[in-house]
Amino acid sequence: MSTRKLFWVRWLSSLTIAGLLIVIVFNLADWKVAPSLSGSKSLVQSNSVELGPWNKFASPSGLDRIGLKPSVQSNPVELGSLNKLASSATLGRLRTNGVDLTKPLPSFNSCGAGSAVGDTYFTLAAVGDLLLHYNIINTADRQGYDYLFDKVRPFLQAANLTYANFEGSSNPNAPYSGVFPLFNYDPKLAKAAAKAGIDLVSTANNHALDTGPSGLDATLGSLATAGLAQHGTTARNAKRQVYQPFELKQNNIILKGSFLAYTWGTNGLADPYKQVNELWDANGRLRQSVKDDLARARQETELVVVAAHWGNEYQFLPTSQQIQGAKELTAAGADLILGDHPHTLQPVDLIESEGRQAMLIYSLGNFIAAQDAYQAQSFTQTSLILYLGVTKQADGKVALNGYRYLPVFIENNTRPVPLLLGSHPEAYRHILQQMRDPQGTRAVNPLNPPSSIVSICPEYTFAEASGLSIPGDFAQYFATLGTGDKSYQLSQSLALIGFPTSKVVEELSGDCSHLTRVLYTERARLELQPEANWPFRVVGTQLGTNVYFTKYKPPYASPELIPRRLNLAIANPRFKAFFQAFGGLNHFGYPISDELTEIDRETGKTKIVQYFERSRFEYVKDEPENPDPLYRVQLGLLTKEADPISKQCFNAMVKN
Ligand SMILES: [Zn+2]
Repeated sequence: MSTRKLFWVRWLSSLTIAGLLIVIVFNLADWKVAPSLSGSKSLVQSNSVELGPWNKFASPSGLDRIGLKPSVQSNPVELGSLNKLASSATLGRLRTNGVDLTKPLPSFNSCGAGSAVGDTYFTLAAVGDLLLHYNIINTADRQGYDYLFDKVRPFLQAANLTYANFEGSSNPNAPYSGVFPLFNYDPKLAKAAAKAGIDLVSTANNHALDTGPSGLDATLGSLATAGLAQHGTTARNAKRQVYQPFELKQNNIILKGSFLAYTWGTNGLADPYKQVNELWDANGRLRQSVKDDLARARQETELVVVAAHWGNEYQFLPTSQQIQGAKELTAAGADLILGDHPHTLQPVDLIESEGRQAMLIYSLGNFIAAQDAYQAQSFTQTSLILYLGVTKQADGKVALNGYRYLPVFIENNTRPVPLLLGSHPEAYRHILQQMRDPQGTRAVNPLNPPSSIVSICPEYTFAEASGLSIPGDFAQYFATLGTGDKSYQLSQSLALIGFPTSKVVEELSGDCSHLTRVLYTERARLELQPEANWPFRVVGTQLGTNVYFTKYKPPYASPELIPRRLNLAIANPRFKAFFQAFGGLNHFGYPISDELTEIDRETGKTKIVQYFERSRFEYVKDEPENPDPLYRVQLGLLTKEADPISKQCFNAMVKN
């Protein structure tokens, strides 16, 4: 597109309710400026009105336009080396039924404005099969059942509620067995599981009737004695529960939840007393009785968690029946779906069905099991602890936050241990792939057992900022420099964004069109766009544009023709290198001035500067280069210099 054409093109876009962006292109001649705030959109606008062209210009040709060759953004994250391992043969196998389960899920994590505005965060943990083969039973008999959980106990306890799949019976009136097809465990297992932090189990699986109907009654007795809540099966003399209720508590806030569990079958073992909850009907679709249970749970509780025992063993992919079933469970009322049975991990997903949304994992895989014979081919010793986050908002609504996970390996074919990156790289890479998190951004540090609940939405707090914090989605912006899914080091985030200088406030958005939650930091004014996905869920206001226009009053007819349209380049090599290494277009926006000389008001020193939409790059003239590339350029403290948003919007209104 020619410079002249660019000059005459004006882009506008707006957020729809669904968070989709509609981009409309106007020629100036056709464009009628509405005499209202909305007519001033691109004056002091935030990204919310720029997403369409932004996306286009962010393409390699867009980078060319500002004098930069496209390059892979540097990403000095601890797990970055995993990229090298990611050329995987299994990737192609993860595409099925039009659902692409290989794509990263940055939009999965959604944390809102944070606890400062009254949101309460809860975390659920989930693990796969407790399936004790005979060698594990022998070890536990010698070393005690606690031994099985010793390496993961703090990680299991780091949640408001922890779930596992109890695959087998625990009937002390029958011989214990850890050989297919009959699994029967000492009740010490249930006690050790409860002691390790597991609160809730599913008993709906294909081994539920391994010691018959009376054995199932005894199993339920063992679980109750251990203090494990369960759903999925019913003792013969008991009334069937529609769901297992539970409560999550934090700071006097209570979230009422329900748990329901169902299985594809019982390995052909008869169920004469209808004790086991079945998942599918005769046509292989979700049973009506399951839908009825979920409707009741939905009506009576705030969070509906479903365990589904389904799928094909040793497959990395869900079957079409699982995918269809997940949709039907979501439509029927499920919020969280915990799949299991394949003995290997299957991907996480965020699905929508009939206007509802659910987070799910198709299979949690093994947690305690001895299947190392299949590890090389099917990753059967490769596991995790999945953490799922939900928020109870100040208005009482419950929202899904996203997930994190602890990579786990079943050590010596016996017990789960936190998996270190270097110890089994193939297994580690496989976990990241199934977690759809290629950079490992959401992996919990295996070397640092949590002393409190793992937060899906961690906040940054700083002593240097007199107790102010960076909460919710602002924290994800801070950690990922606006990308939503790449990790940066704290020093980098601080150099680029700075310490917080306010609590989260409600103010006009940068385009003056609506009220939104805003966090001020030293170098940025960050706006929450709760309906948008990453990388646009949090965007920086154009502070650079405001300061530049106020200071220089450039001769453009109006600020919407900011020189971004004029093919400005980043000519200064220091600025160019800094732009490429840290933040890029995402964080700084386009250059809007040439290289300029300014006198620093406080130091009196001469600085070389260039204005970008959201930043001012600067360094002191004639001073030797700082050896640390991060500090060869400093960013202006623009929140101090920019007009308050009320003044920016007032000016915009008056001009129009
Ligand atoms: Zn199973």
